[in-house]
Amino acid sequence: MTGTSGALAEPTLAQLTTMRVGGPAERVITADSRESLVLHALDLWRLDDPWLLLGGGSNTIVSDEGFPGTVLLARNTGIELVSEARSDGRVRLRVQAGHHWDHLVAFTVERGWAGLEALSGIPGLAGAAPMQNIGAYGAELADVLHSIEFLDADTHEVVRLGAAELELSYRSSVLKQGREGVVLSIDVVLDADAGGLSSPVRYGQLAERLGAQLGDRVPLRELRDTVLALRRSKAMVLDEADHDSWSAGSFFTNPIVTESFARTLPTDAPRYVVDEGETPPTVIALEDLQRGAALPQPRKASPRTVKLSAAWLIEHSGITRGFRLPGSGAAISSKHTLAITNRGGASAADVAELARFVVQRVQQEFGVILVPEPRVYGLEIRPEAHGRISSAAGEHLYSQQSKLRECAQCGRAGAAACVVYCEPRACRAQNRPIALRQ
Ligand SMILES: Cc1cc2nc3c(=O)[nH]c(=O)nc-3n(C[C@H](O)[C@H](O)[C@H](O)COP(=O)(O)OP(=O)(O)OC[C@H]3O[C@@H](n4cnc5c(N)ncnc54)[C@H](O)[C@@H]3O)c2cc1C
Repeated sequence: MTGTSGALAEPTLAQLTTMRVGGPAERVITADSRESLVLHALDLWRLDDPWLLLGGGSNTIVSDEGFPGTVLLARNTGIELVSEARSDGRVRLRVQAGHHWDHLVAFTVERGWAGLEALSGIPGLAGAAPMQNIGAYGAELADVLHSIEFLDADTHEVVRLGAAELELSYRSSVLKQGREGVVLSIDVVLDADAGGLSSPVRYGQLAERLGAQLGDRVPLRELRDTVLALRRSKAMVLDEADHDSWSAGSFFTNPIVTESFARTLPTDAPRYVVDEGETPPTVIALEDLQRGAALPQPRKASPRTVKLSAAWLIEHSGITRGFRLPGSGAAISSKHTLAITNRGGASAADVAELARFVVQRVQQEFGVILVPEPRVYGLEIRPEAHGRISSAAGEHLYSQQSKLRECAQCGRAGAAACVVYCEPRACRAQNRPIALRQ
């Protein structure tokens, strides 16, 4: 594969991301072959200048000031068959980092290879897919990922990392947790022996739309078309004409909290067990016991954890579809509560302000702090800057539940009104702390 590379004339981050906000970068370099991607990355690291790697920009939001360094665009494309179907009926494909994700899915569905069909329509490029272990409709990259070819920013070496080394989990991986480098290509293993049928359907809404049962297999093409139709109905496929899709997809991940915390939420709040937790067994040798050895302290059990629905929490904190702060160019999607969208003239500051507002509302109503899913540069969305956190657990922090019912200073009733008109715990009208009536 050969390719050219070159500098573009000052494109803004708004032009390079699907949220369409963000100022200019100092420099933008396009790498359209694997080799140029390696060379440009190594050059940037030697210069020790700030760098930002971008695929399709569908999970990245940059501030209005722009990026003070070089943006490197991964544009190396191509799909290669690494191994043909053998007795196990599996094929292994190598996909270059700059390959359009949904073109890859379409390619595999056309050939009757099962495994990627439920991930149809996710924007972006293949190299970013392991970053947050992309997932939708009961499937995730982890189901099919074999390995990645990775240029390590620490060692400057190219290594092959097996899927297990990436610690893929719900919208996360070691790459998202801070292992820096460039994914040059990804290898996926698909089922070529499925007779043109999909992997088992694992998502209720999808099964319902297909008229199938959970666990059924349906024709690959039908599954892809149904997923694309469902996604379109929520503006979750990119569409130039639809402002609801000018977004970064879901803006918040579904919080994972301990079961005991989840019990403090209203009974109708959706919750799904993600980890049963365990009490590790304590093994004591019989001879030791007979010799009168002291019993060891019982080890701490890990708690059962449950996943909450971020969309439900947002809706039930009083933020409805289409919600917009006064004078802002950003709004909640009119089709999906989890997406923050650009209505046309939004700034990155508008997006961040709305995101902070949502985080505050949910925290004050339910004590849960939502965590943004996209990568955010130069903007403050972290809840720590905007609320008091009284406890933390795992990846998701949450405060003790606090229900605001009425502002005692300005007298506005209802939690939503109180936050709109008063700073949290401080009445804007009177500029002093408020006593909140529960
Ligand atoms: C309308 C819409 C719907 C969406 N629906 C879903 C969904 O259903 N499920 C889902 O999981 N996501 C969804 N997303 C989020 C997004 O599409 C995915 O996260 C996608 O994988 C991002 O790809 P990208 O190339 O655009 O990444 P970018 O935004 O360009 O990059 C994202 C991050 O990955 C890093 N990165 C990019 N390329 C590489 C590389 N080659 N090597 C190392 N790091 C790299 C970047 O530095 C950045 O930190 C949606 C987004 C939109 C706009």
